[in-house]
Amino acid sequence: MKCPRCNTDLLPTERHKLKVNHCPSCQGMWLEQVELGELEDEVFDFGDRWKGSLFISSTPTTGQCPECAAHLERFQYRFYDLEMEVCPNQHGYWLEADEDSRVLELMKREEADLQRKLLVEDKWAATLRHMRSGSFFSKMRDLFRK
Ligand SMILES: [Zn+2]
Ligand SMILES: [Zn+2]
Repeated sequence: MKCPRCNTDLLPTERHKLKVNHCPSCQGMWLEQVELGELEDEVFDFGDRWKGSLFISSTPTTGQCPECAAHLERFQYRFYDLEMEVCPNQHGYWLEADEDSRVLELMKREEADLQRKLLVEDKWAATLRHMRSGSFFSKMRDLFRK
């Protein structure tokens, strides 16, 4: 497995009790789809309805998926100022150095701020209702087709 950023060999390591593939050069890391879900569950377990991995926009990048070499798509994570990259073929997510720690921080803040989040969620519900019927990745594919 090669780093999408600098082509260094990724090394298996453990972050926040999860096994991830880590780049010793640029400190980025590759999370498989299920691993990101586990990262969120660690601090914010309200079920899939609340996680939803809501994204706002996506743009193609020059980085390539370590597993299939497809160009990763960059998207904005949920309502926050955090961008991640995802393989369009469902292999996983690429996080820059320490972005996994930011995910945990964001989830903790979100838990403390649940009431506000519920209101935000209401506003988004109409827009996203049609996207909730399938999996996260089928939602992503819908977005890419636009
Ligand atoms: Zn790297
Ligand atoms: Zn892939």
